[in-house]
Amino acid sequence: MVPIATDATSFCYYENKEYHSKKAASFISITQLKKIIKYAEKHETPINFLLGKKRLPKEYTQLINTIDHVKITPISLMQSYNNAIIVVNPNERNHLPKLTKRTASNIILRLEKSVLNTLATIVTPLLATCKRINLILLELESYSDKDFKDYKKQIAIIHDKVLHSYQSGTNVELNFLSDRLLLQKMNNCDAGQTHFTIGLNGKFYLCPAFYYAKKSDSIGTFKQGISIPNKQLLELENAPICRHCDAFHCKRCFYLNKQLTAEINTPSHQQCVTAHIERNGSHTLRDKLKDTIENIEDFNEISEIDYLDPMQHSIKQNERLLLPKQEMNNTVQTRTSADSWHNVIEPKSFNKISNQELARLILHLQNELVQRLSLQPQGSTNHEKQ
Ligand code: SF4
Repeated sequence: MVPIATDATSFCYYENKEYHSKKAASFISITQLKKIIKYAEKHETPINFLLGKKRLPKEYTQLINTIDHVKITPISLMQSYNNAIIVVNPNERNHLPKLTKRTASNIILRLEKSVLNTLATIVTPLLATCKRINLILLELESYSDKDFKDYKKQIAIIHDKVLHSYQSGTNVELNFLSDRLLLQKMNNCDAGQTHFTIGLNGKFYLCPAFYYAKKSDSIGTFKQGISIPNKQLLELENAPICRHCDAFHCKRCFYLNKQLTAEINTPSHQQCVTAHIERNGSHTLRDKLKDTIENIEDFNEISEIDYLDPMQHSIKQNERLLLPKQEMNNTVQTRTSADSWHNVIEPKSFNKISNQELARLILHLQNELVQRLSLQPQGSTNHEKQ
């Protein structure tokens, strides 16, 4: 990822404040751009350029056309860049009626929470104009149970619209509904693993979110190359909650993890719940599709589950281990381990702890189980069935 101007649009959960600022924006220097292109050529990697509100000057266009690339552009510039991925930021939805099949194939819809309960109304007209819709739920950190309910309701409305488009042979992709039907394994964002970002300062970052949040969180330079501290934490196998999850389409966003749980490999309650609402929505969509389309076997079967947050599910599974000592009716081996868990948190205060604390607690419990008793973690969501 390369932001090509100081006002480059966001395409994800983070914000670039300068995109919304009235301050005059500037482009990356030509020297810097040449350096980036040379680096990408050397490593045989394509580049995603994040554009700002101004059209690229001719010399920039000529230069970036020398390399395999994708432009990610605000919707206001969609007429200028035919094959670009179009970002629709909040306050830019007035451009949506101008979309035609020709101008839009891939849209990133960045949706503010205040309009969540109108999601279906916003998405429905897009089903006829583009091949793919990527929904980004902004302000996810402040989602409440009511917002989760609203999201679930909106997804139920969208089901029927998508059903019609599938029946008429228009297989529009939606990251929050159809992706899960086609995925056989986790397909996360993978920042720092399959892609990284070069900031306007010439330094490397896991993704643009880390660049805008804290410039000192750099993971390298042209000269030094890339060096990611605790790189193993980015790997799925080292994410105790996610590695057992089957919400395969979830972004597993390291930036949100860091912001909301302080652990790069621990997902927030909000990310897990929205991903599971979507996962369960895919399950329902498949159910509805099965009687109406011939190629239903192309879409994965998804099991029915009765929870939205795998961590809370795990806690329920493990709560027997949190009972006070006198109520435990276990073998000596279990009791010995339970004694050490009592040092982590008092069972009586269990209801008072936050989701983030719960996350840390459950991780601790799982690690303790594995390390001390040589058991597999309990309550891992679907992995037993896989
Ligand atoms: S880590 Fe990935 S999903 Fe999260 S903000 Fe960065 S690019 Fe987006």
